[in-house]
Amino acid sequence: MSVAAAAKPPTVKLLIGGVWIESRTTQWRDVINPATQQVLARVPFATAQELDAAVASAKDAFKTWRKTSIGVRARIFLKYQQLIREHMKELAAILTAEQGKTLPDAEGDIFRGLEVVEHAANIGTLQMGELANNVATGVDTFSLLQPLGVCAGITPFNFPAMIPLWMFPMAIATGNTFILKPSEQDPLVTVRLVELALEAGIPKGVLNLVHGGEATVNGICDHPDIKAVSFVGSTKVGTHVYRRATLAGKRAQCMMGAKNHAVVLPDANREQTLNNLIGAAFGAAGQRCMAASTLVLVGESREWLPALVEKARTLKVNAGFEPGTDVGPVVSCAALERVSGLIERGILEGAKLELDGRNPSVPGYEQGNFVGPTIFSGVKPGMAIYEQEIFGPVLIAVEVATLDDAIRLINDNPNGNGVALFTQSGAAARKFQEDIDVGQVGINVPIPVPVPLFSFTGSRASKLGDLGPYGKQVILFYTQTKTVTQRWFDDSTLSVGVNTTISLR
Ligand code: NAD
Repeated sequence: MSVAAAAKPPTVKLLIGGVWIESRTTQWRDVINPATQQVLARVPFATAQELDAAVASAKDAFKTWRKTSIGVRARIFLKYQQLIREHMKELAAILTAEQGKTLPDAEGDIFRGLEVVEHAANIGTLQMGELANNVATGVDTFSLLQPLGVCAGITPFNFPAMIPLWMFPMAIATGNTFILKPSEQDPLVTVRLVELALEAGIPKGVLNLVHGGEATVNGICDHPDIKAVSFVGSTKVGTHVYRRATLAGKRAQCMMGAKNHAVVLPDANREQTLNNLIGAAFGAAGQRCMAASTLVLVGESREWLPALVEKARTLKVNAGFEPGTDVGPVVSCAALERVSGLIERGILEGAKLELDGRNPSVPGYEQGNFVGPTIFSGVKPGMAIYEQEIFGPVLIAVEVATLDDAIRLINDNPNGNGVALFTQSGAAARKFQEDIDVGQVGINVPIPVPVPLFSFTGSRASKLGDLGPYGKQVILFYTQTKTVTQRWFDDSTLSVGVNTTISLR
């Protein structure tokens, strides 16, 4: 495979006030195809002045956008969902080229975002307030959910379609204007989604796009005209963003890192469970925040491990855009180095390497960041592979004697993003869902990400801020509740007095 494209790679543009502009920055980074190392584009790290200009345009657009009727807002998102459907294949190809996941998985990434766009088209009923009639004689109280102003979103590399779509559609549908800062590792599919949003009718300045890294993110956290920040990414950066943004008086919600356990009871449906585990551990090369990366084998279910290893061995490692690929490359050379380093550490710390996916042979893509399915058994808390989020196609197995032991192990882990239990026992499932301290629970469902009728509800160290992305919770995140208490006098009403509490009764 040729390593560099002959032509100079295109530059990624900023979107400010409805105009695509070339950044004046001196700091650029290559967007690289992780299967080939081909440079696809160059992305700028926007200057402070460019961020200011984006915020100023969003602030100006808010004056009119906040008063736009429900019907106008809803119809933009109806049109937008149609455009995303029509461009699904094109979007998936862009995503796979820059991120590495397989084409079907890229379509899944887009589809899960599309569901949020569909939900945004229901904004009329979602943003309704409440009314209480006659709270005192002749007095009614009602609530309004009013937009905040300029909001911002900062997104990670692993879902470059879904996560931007978690953010700007609901923020804009509720009447806010938005600054989006996608991952600098794979911004191209996000750019295309923003282009389609403009085509759907989002007016100038309502949606702005800036690129960059630490300085741009800090600039967003500090900017006095940004009212709310939604972040998805690692725990380290999310903790920093939460502190910095809230210190600057903003609302913040940060969805962060994970260590998701999948518990298998011996009474589970064996084939279904093993197949589900393979998909949940190795799909998207393990680069999902909800990947089932830690297997907890209860009692006799430990005997299923050899069958799981054999299934994992058959997975096809190849470029994501090649047909039949199961496991694509990890996103960058740095990610490959980190994952390989953790595998090495697992061996040194005494875990048993049941399947070694390092250095797989991928003919035609020798330069790619590939690591194949890898499985460790005999893993114990305290080992680096248990304590750290590996974020690669590595499944670790811990053995415990009882369901109670499994619950204790998981509740002792600081993370609370996702967990799954495989069983045919209703009683065991009910006990698990009651006692487990994790925000998203799957019963025979390996990756329990809720659809947008609900909100994403990661908990504990996986989340900061009370309200989650999308669903009902995000309506509250992107709005300020105002209550209005009112009464009307007709001409015959006469009341004089200073004691309003009594006169209200
Ligand atoms: P990351 O934290 O490195 O990057 C996220 C964003 O923060 C990017 O836009 C990046 O430009 C910015 N950033 C990076 N370093 C920064 C710094 N020092 N200061 C300020 N901003 C900085 O995360 P990632 O590697 O892109 O994504 C993978 C992580 O995201 C994993 O930990 C994964 O679990 C997590 N994630 C969580 C969820 C969830 O819903 N809980 C969903 C997807 C991904």
